[in-house]
Amino acid sequence: MYQQHSGSRTFRGRTSSRPSYGGRSRPQGGYSGRRPGGASRVPRQRGANIHYSKFIQKAETVEEATVFTPVHTFADFLIDERLKKNITKKGYVTPTPIQDAAIPLALQGRDVVGLAETGTGKTGAFLIPLLDKVLKNPGENVLIMAPTRELAVQIADEFKAFASGLPLHFALAIGGANINMQIRSLRQGAQFLIGTPGRIMDLMDRGEVNLAKCSNVVLDEADRMLDMGFIESMRKILGTMPAKRHTLFFSATLSRDIEKLIGDFLTEPERISVKTQDTSKHVDQDIVRIQSGRTKFEHLAELLRTGEFTKVLVFGRTKHGVEKLFKLLKAEGFKAESIHGNKSHGQRQRSLKLFKDEHVQVLVATDVAARGLDIPNVSHVINFDVPGSYEDYVHRIGRTGRAGQRGKALTFIE
Ligand code: AMP
Repeated sequence: MYQQHSGSRTFRGRTSSRPSYGGRSRPQGGYSGRRPGGASRVPRQRGANIHYSKFIQKAETVEEATVFTPVHTFADFLIDERLKKNITKKGYVTPTPIQDAAIPLALQGRDVVGLAETGTGKTGAFLIPLLDKVLKNPGENVLIMAPTRELAVQIADEFKAFASGLPLHFALAIGGANINMQIRSLRQGAQFLIGTPGRIMDLMDRGEVNLAKCSNVVLDEADRMLDMGFIESMRKILGTMPAKRHTLFFSATLSRDIEKLIGDFLTEPERISVKTQDTSKHVDQDIVRIQSGRTKFEHLAELLRTGEFTKVLVFGRTKHGVEKLFKLLKAEGFKAESIHGNKSHGQRQRSLKLFKDEHVQVLVATDVAARGLDIPNVSHVINFDVPGSYEDYVHRIGRTGRAGQRGKALTFIE
């Protein structure tokens, strides 16, 4: 059952008897030098199977000579002129590599596999062609699935800017936030549903979302959705969508499981790869050995008191550990915030904003909570706890050294 609502198609599964009011998300005005002492003499970390040497790498002298020359300009794309104006208003002049390659293909209706991380402009790569599609075909609906609430919110924020003043609406479906507000947005007729698999399933179970006629889907950070155990939900959700659909698939890594998903979910996709290794070249990476008799916390506090550590993202392994570290930092008088899965969506957004806006010096985070976040000017990433995998390490340090800037990453070793 797919409701016709106010003359336009929506995700609704049943007819609302309530009047429409508020709560609607309206588009408005909307990532080697020296190996000291020989790598083989560096011991392995207990618990995590990563050689310490992998945490040591000098940032390479930034070679600004490798300037990307796009094939297209935004003006070349055969997209709605109003959308082009909003792209210009957002300050985008030239497409990023992923945009340059993906937008024309998506505009032709091709399925696309984009190997790219946050920071490459992938959000625009999928939003621009899909917003244009819905503008040209008002009956179309789009489902955008992302692994974390924060990433979904970032996508929604980009959406607002691109869709400013246009008859395009979205509903957000994320856990930790009021579901009734989300239901209201859906009932009011959004063409775009942006959310995390768990909450989307919840809304489907409640009969609020029906995707039988939604033939466009974006799977953002598909590798992370898989890591986070969303595979069954993803299969169920996609299983309710038309077999003939337009699928845009983004992943930072390409594993066997990911290849399987691509084979199952996409039809003759075009593949685009944006090198993500380059990010780490901008990051000075080193280990910090904690002397016996001292604690990691004492060392962290000492570093934070030097003038250099201005905007510091500290990673802990567990939610509990992150919260404990955050409280210790506060008790020592540091301006700090924390983000992890035990906090509500509102609390996480608040903490993130305070850090982004540089009202606090330190943000303590778990891997999951910090994944995919686009935070400008992070001066240092500190691995207070060693990451569980090398992939997590790469994602962590990718939070600094962005946009051609140099960053520093330190890994504490006891
Ligand atoms: P994303 O990988 O989509 O999270 O984008 C990373 C950052 O780059 C965001 O702050 C975007 O607003 C920005 N961005 C994306 N595309 C462009 C572009 N063509 N020109 C300038 N900035 C961009």
